[in-house]
Amino acid sequence: MDYTAKLDEALNRLHEEGRYRTFIDIERKNGQFPHATWRKPDGSEQPITVWCGNDYLGMGQHPAVLAAMHEAIEATGAGSGGTRNISGTTVYHKRLEAELADLHHKEDALLFTSAYIANDATLSTLPKLFPGLIIYSDEFNHASMIEGVRRNGGAKRIFKHNDLADLRAKLEADDPAAPKLIAFESIYSMDGDFGPIKELCDLADEFGALTYIDEVHAVGMYGPRGAGVAERDNLMHRIDIINGTLAKAYGVMGGYIAASAKMCDAIRSYAPGFIFTTSLSPAIAAGAAASVAFLKTDKTLREKHQEQAKILKLRLKGLGMPIIDHGSHIVPVIVGDPVHTKKLSDMMLENYGIYVQPINFPTVPRGTERLRFTPSPVHGPNEMDVLVKAMDELWSHCALNRAELAG
Ligand SMILES: *Cc1c(COP(=O)(O)O)cnc(C)c1O
Repeated sequence: MDYTAKLDEALNRLHEEGRYRTFIDIERKNGQFPHATWRKPDGSEQPITVWCGNDYLGMGQHPAVLAAMHEAIEATGAGSGGTRNISGTTVYHKRLEAELADLHHKEDALLFTSAYIANDATLSTLPKLFPGLIIYSDEFNHASMIEGVRRNGGAKRIFKHNDLADLRAKLEADDPAAPKLIAFESIYSMDGDFGPIKELCDLADEFGALTYIDEVHAVGMYGPRGAGVAERDNLMHRIDIINGTLAKAYGVMGGYIAASAKMCDAIRSYAPGFIFTTSLSPAIAAGAAASVAFLKTDKTLREKHQEQAKILKLRLKGLGMPIIDHGSHIVPVIVGDPVHTKKLSDMMLENYGIYVQPINFPTVPRGTERLRFTPSPVHGPNEMDVLVKAMDELWSHCALNRAELAG
C-alpha cells in the first residue's frame, strides 16, 4: 500500500473541488481588537482588520477577563493537571459551573473543553441513559451535533430546517411510548436565522420529548443577562439541556451544558468525552467565569453589538448588496459562486487589509457561497467606512449583481 499516494489523492480531491482550506496566519493585538497582523507566507507582515471573528463582543481583550486569567496563573500555575475525576477538578471549574447554572437558571452545569465536545459527548451519550431514544435533529444543526447524533447508535430523524410540519409528521410516525429528544439551535450561524424555539417546545410537550438547544451563537449576546435567545423569549425553563460556548462572545475557550442536577450527574458519569480528557486550564476557567459574570450585569456591549450589526446591514443594503437579514447579529453577503467568493476575500485582504474568510460548500449549500461579516462593538466608524467602501469598489470591479435599489 502506498500510503503517501492515498494522502495525495485525498488532498487532491479537495483541491479539485475548490474546498482545500488555507489558514490565514494572524496575530490579534491585545487592546486593539479588531486590529491584527497578517503574517504572509513570504515572511512579510501587513496590518489587517478582522471582520469574521467569533469574539463577538471583544471579550478576548477585556481587562476583567485578562486580570482573572493572570491571577489564576499566578495562584495555581498553567494546567489543571488531570481529568475531572483524577485531580483535575479545581475551585475554578466549580465556580464556573455555578456561574453557568445560575446564568441559565438550571440546577447544574457541566464543563467541556469546547462546545463541540459538549454537543458530541452529550448527544452521543443520551441513548445510554434513555434506551430506545429517538433524536429529532434539524438538518442545519452544527457538525458537532450531527457527529454526536450519528455515533450514538440510537435512532435519528432529520427534520427539514425549522420545518414544524415535517417535525410533527416524524414525531407522529414513531411509537408514542418511545423516549424522544428534539435537538436544534437558537441561531443558525451561517444565515443568522432563529430557530422557532417556542413552537419546538410546544411540539416537545405534545409528544413527551426532551428539548436540546445549541445557544453557541447567542450566549453573551441575547437576553437580559446574556443567557441567549431562550432567555430573551422567556423560554429557558422549557429547555431540558442548554448547550453554550465560552469561546465566542465570552472570548475565552470551553463549552458546557446546563440542565437539571440529575441530567448533569448522568452525563458526567457516562460521557467518555467528559470523563477521559484533561479538564480546562484553571486560568481559562477563571477567565471564562469573569466574562460570564461581567456580561450578566453589563448590557452595554450587547446593545452596541446589535446596533453595529444593524448599521452594517443598512449600509450594505443601501449599496444593493444581497445580504441575508433575519434580524440577528450575523451579516452574510451572498456571492453565489466559490471562485468569486475566494477572489473577493483575497482582494479584500491584500488590497484593503480587511480579513473576511470565504464561506464555501460544504459549510453552506452550493450556489450560496458567501462572505460572512461579524461586526462587533470594537469595530469603530472608521473600520466600518473602510469595509463598506471596499465592498462597493470590489462589487463593481467583479461586476457582481446588485439588488434593485428600492426606496
Ligand atoms: C462554533 C460552534 C460550536 C462549537 O463551539 P466551540 O466551543 O468552538 O467548540 C457548536 N455549535 C455551533 C452552532 C457553533 O457555531
